[in-house]
Amino acid sequence: LLDTAWVVDWTRRSAAAVTESIEELNALDAAIGDGDHGTNLCRGLEAALAKLDAAAQAGDPPPTPGGALKAVATSLLATVGGASGPLLGTAYLRASRGGTLTELDAAAVAGLIEDACAGVEVRGRAEAGDKTMLDAWRPAAVAARSAADRGAGPAEVLAAAARAAAQGAQSTEPMTARKGRASYHGVHSQGHRDPGAQSTAILLEAACHAAG
Ligand code: ADP
Ligand code: MG
Ligand code: MG
Repeated sequence: LLDTAWVVDWTRRSAAAVTESIEELNALDAAIGDGDHGTNLCRGLEAALAKLDAAAQAGDPPPTPGGALKAVATSLLATVGGASGPLLGTAYLRASRGGTLTELDAAAVAGLIEDACAGVEVRGRAEAGDKTMLDAWRPAAVAARSAADRGAGPAEVLAAAARAAAQGAQSTEPMTARKGRASYHGVHSQGHRDPGAQSTAILLEAACHAAG
């Protein structure tokens, strides 16, 4: 079962992994956008981590995983900016909705990924195949649910989600962008991986390792 400490470790690993991939994410975004996706996300995750660490130091950590996810969401909404800030902020805000549970079982973890995906959908109104982060979130949500349904534990649900997100990110390479800045490139966006789909794969891999 996964608790608040998992969300904190997920956030810490996300900040570290995105920092490590900042140049890669900026380069993906430079090809079909404005080159700031790694920088944007790094800033947001560091703010989120600082907020969680400050709360722990003050002896006032969020009592539930949902509370911790809500703190991450508000940090992302306040600091990431661009297109991805509201999208990921809404994803984490939706994911925090199971707010009163203190421990998450496999079904709750699958629900969390599904809720995050729904947040991206509601906020961005993209469809599958539009070459956005949704092309990583949606397969992750589907894989998480089917893993939970076949009796996998929470860590295995996250592993299935992370694998599906990585494949989803790769699947964006031949797509033509239809949303966001990348859509300005039209067919010339083909052959480039979507940066938001790639960062989604990084975030879900961090979630999986934190459950490790
Ligand atoms: P900006 O484009 O404002 O500079 P970022 O570079 O931080 O913002 O984020 C770009 C990413 O946002 C894209 O790679 C894509 O995954 C995602 N994105 C943009 N528009 C949408 C949308 N409508 N729905 C889903 N994801 C989107
Ligand atoms: Mg950008
Ligand atoms: Mg920008």
